[in-house]
Amino acid sequence: MRYQETLYADWGQNFEQHEVLFEMNTDHQHLIIFSNKRFGRVMALDGVIQTTEADEFIYHEMMVHVPMLSHPNPEHILIIGGGDGGILREVLKHPSAKSVTQVEIDQSVVDMCIKYLPNHSKGAFNDSRLNLVIDDGAKFVRSNKSQFDVIITDSTDPIGPGETLFESHFYADCAKVMGKNGILVTQNGVPYLQGDEVTDTYRRWKPLFQTRRFYLTPVPTYAGGAMAMGFGIKQAISHPSIEILKERVLSLNGLKYYTPEIHLGAFGLPKFVLNLMVD
Ligand code: SAM
Repeated sequence: MRYQETLYADWGQNFEQHEVLFEMNTDHQHLIIFSNKRFGRVMALDGVIQTTEADEFIYHEMMVHVPMLSHPNPEHILIIGGGDGGILREVLKHPSAKSVTQVEIDQSVVDMCIKYLPNHSKGAFNDSRLNLVIDDGAKFVRSNKSQFDVIITDSTDPIGPGETLFESHFYADCAKVMGKNGILVTQNGVPYLQGDEVTDTYRRWKPLFQTRRFYLTPVPTYAGGAMAMGFGIKQAISHPSIEILKERVLSLNGLKYYTPEIHLGAFGLPKFVLNLMVD
């Protein structure tokens, strides 16, 4: 039996399904978790691969440690989405993290990932610093009043429940709850195949952020080339030096992908991606 990703009508990756561990239509999306000999346990939502045991460390380390180590003292963190717990696990590695608010729309994703993908969260959902809110992330930031130092949007693609997390109103509401040097990082699609997501984000961020950057990370099971991660800050801020990053990263243990060199290098963009960053 094979699992065919259906993100693209005319092309896609497929996996040999060794065993289907769980499958259901939740209140928001179709959820399946299956095992594959090469990638371990794999989760997909609405036909799109979300995460695998084998390569999740790449994406989660780069979505978290780039903003967290760019910020001088990230204490209050907001995670939108991220129901598998990988982002949360990495955020909690930071000694500076005093409070983490996670807003995930689908309780079933959290429950099933704790059960079938325990190595993603590794108990992070029990951490006393966490406030887990089951709600639409866009609705939450609209009504929320507290301020955050780092916001990480680990959403599905802009289809179904994830669509609202790519809209201008969501970004404007995020800006309202970000401190003056707060950082917003977004899952921003694979530019080789979803280049419009880079252009849309770049344009929608213009009135909000003086710093509008993207960085690239190659995640094997996000098919089609490196994934773009949006990186927005209200002020015009330059990157920390390699020396500062080398100092800051000393507080983290168990990294398998992130290095200060990769951090800075990931912002070096190929021409075709730079050409997408037009107002
Ligand atoms: N790393 C994956 C990627 O890059 O596509 C995303 C993984 S994570 C499982 C995506 C999460 O976003 C899912 O748990 C989904 O339920 C959640 N999500 C989608 N739309 C949402 C919304 N409007 N508010 C909060 N969470 C949402």
